Formats: sequence, structure tokens, C-alpha cells
Amino acid sequence: DLVLSIESSCDETAIAVVDSHGTVCSSVVATSIDFHARFGGVVPEIASRKHVEAIVGVYEEAMAQAGSHFGCDTLTAADLSAVGVTAGPGLVGALVVGVAFAKGLCASTGLPLIAVHHLEGHLLANLFETPDLKPPFVASLVSGGNTMLVYVRGWGDYQILGTTIDDAVGEAFDKVAKALGLGYPGGPVISRLAAKGNPCAIHFPRAMMHSGDYQFSLSGLKTAVITYIEGENRAGRPIDLPDLAASFEAAVIDVQVAKAVTAVEQTGVSDFCVGGGVAANPQLREAYRKAFDKRGVRVTVPPMRACGDNAAMISVAALRSYRARNFAPLTLDADPNAPLGAWSTTDAPVPP
Ligand code: ATP
Ligand code: MG
Ligand code: FE
Repeated sequence: DLVLSIESSCDETAIAVVDSHGTVCSSVVATSIDFHARFGGVVPEIASRKHVEAIVGVYEEAMAQAGSHFGCDTLTAADLSAVGVTAGPGLVGALVVGVAFAKGLCASTGLPLIAVHHLEGHLLANLFETPDLKPPFVASLVSGGNTMLVYVRGWGDYQILGTTIDDAVGEAFDKVAKALGLGYPGGPVISRLAAKGNPCAIHFPRAMMHSGDYQFSLSGLKTAVITYIEGENRAGRPIDLPDLAASFEAAVIDVQVAKAVTAVEQTGVSDFCVGGGVAANPQLREAYRKAFDKRGVRVTVPPMRACGDNAAMISVAALRSYRARNFAPLTLDADPNAPLGAWSTTDAPVPP
């Protein structure tokens, strides 16, 4: 059985094919990032148009790559068993492109359609290298649009412990990078700089650190960093970019780690995992390992290539739904605000 999945929730047009073991036969990602870079963030209208331009080519490439995986020129739709698609959350004008393409493919071939929640895809990207990861565990989902701590009681059984009350973690990286004129996205460039800097050089606030809950706030930190940059510029002092990046990251990481540790202790689980674009941050990965190793808690992260948006992770989620025959009707609509757990396949036994 082969499951093809489509991801178009933000600025990546991605299609991947996995086999029934979850082995990735092909994974193609086209990004419109260069067209957004000069605006310092994703422009929804541009993202939507670029998906329309890219999606047929990405489909053909994904089918050809999967074909060569099996030693032939290309797969055809007749080789597939199901079509998965990210139906939300994300930019509505971007999501509809993938959803319409998936529905068209299913309508013309009779293949079953599977709806996937984008963040569940980010979560299940942990299964690539840790296939034995099993609930219950605590997960941190940190990306360009989301920041949440989740108690995963079972697959598809998610208790959201807390979220950000303003900016997402990835968004804070992007805004700080923009203020420094470092382009978009900010995460990769900031983390490269931070690796060479002193995290204690500048003290930035650890917002909500002692709020006694699992909520996060990132916009004050972003403002503190921008105020610092402006102050140094006014004083005519050069900014030490590595020190600034490392100090900013330390303020983010301290709060993320502290709340994750409390969540793991309060739920009593022995597994913790991270998902989303920010999970690619080496300093964050290291900080989690350092905090949890000594507590005997296993830390799982996705492979680097599966942290940012891709369709392989969507196919992993779709494969679980395929096995459970959890299909979506062809009337499926994109839902830009879909709650985590929408369309999920739970551990509950499937009726015959
Ligand atoms: P969402 O998943 O919430 O819908 P998204 O899909 O746009 O948002 P992702 O592609 O999952 O977001 O992640 C992109 C974000 O990850 C960007 O904000 C980017 O700056 C951030 N990011 C990428 N690499 C790193 C890194 N090394 N360190 C920190 N942040 C990073
Ligand atoms: Mg993206
Ligand atoms: Fe994402």
C-alpha cells in the first residue's frame, strides 16, 4: 500500500509518498520563501498563487521519485491506495490549493481521501527516528504559527496544557531577524549566530517563567530585543550579533525548558518530544536533553529535514488513518483554525 500526501498550509508546496511501513519513497518540497523574504514574513496572497503554480510539478516529481524508488520511471495514480492532505490549520488561501488538488485526484481515481491536521503531522515526524514512541508523553509544538505544550494521553487524545498568548516562538525568531536585517526566515540564521555567542552577554526577560501555568508570551521579549538594538544604534555602539542571538535564544529556551519540565513532572510521563520548525534549533534540542537526561526522561526530536514543513510527516499521519479506514468525504473543506485532534485517528479499536 502506498499513501500520497499533500501539504500546502503555509509557504511550502510539498508532496510525499510513503509505503505501508512508513518508509518514505519520495518527498518533494517546493518553497515560495524567496518571494516572501523581502517582506520579512509570509504574504498569504503570494503563498496561495505560488501553490497553484507549483502543485502539478511537485506531484509529477513526487510520483517520479517514488517510481525510481521502486525501479520504474514513475508511479501512476493506480499504484496509490489513498491520498492524504493537510486540511488545517494554516492560511486558508494556501490550504484550499492542496485540498482542492487532493479532492480532484480522489474524485478522478476513486482513491479514498484522508484529512490531516498540520500540527499532528509535526508531532508524528518524531516517529521517523523513534518508531517506538508511544503515549502517554508530553510534546512541545513550536513553529512559525504555533507554540503549545500538549499532554498526549493517547494518539488523537490531546490535552493542550498551554499555548502562547501572543507571538509564536518561530515568529519571535523571524521578527528579531527582521529587526536585524537578517532576512526571512529568522530561525536558521539566528541559531547559527547563537552557536558562536555568549548566552549571558545581555539579560532579556524570561516572560511568564513563574506564571504557574503553561502559557507563554514572546512579544515582550521581541520588543526588549528591538529596544536594545535601537539603544545601541543610538549610542553608536556596534552590535555583537552572536552575543545578541545567543542571549535572545537563552531567554526563549529557559522558559520553554522550565515549563516542559514541570509538565513532564506533573503528568508523570517518561517521554518528551518536540515538533515544528523550531525543533530544528540545536541549542533548544541540547537544552532539553540536558534538562531531561538527568531526570531519566527520554527526549525525542524529528530528523532535521522533517522539522520544517514537509509532506512526509503528513503521510505518516495519513497512514495511521488509512489503516483505521478513517476517511474524509469529498466535501472536505479546509479549516484554517482546526483544533489539534480534528480528523485524528485514535487508539480506539476500529469497528469492523
Ligand atoms: P505552523 O506549523 O505553526 O503552521 P509554519 O508551518 O509556518 O507554522 P514551520 O515551517 O513548521 O512553520 O516552521 C517555520 C518556523 O521555524 C519559522 O518561524 C522559522 O524561523 C523557524 N525555524 C526554522 N529553523 C529554526 C532554527 N534553527 N531555530 C529556530 N527557529 C527555526
Ligand atoms: Mg514554512
Ligand atoms: Fe508547520
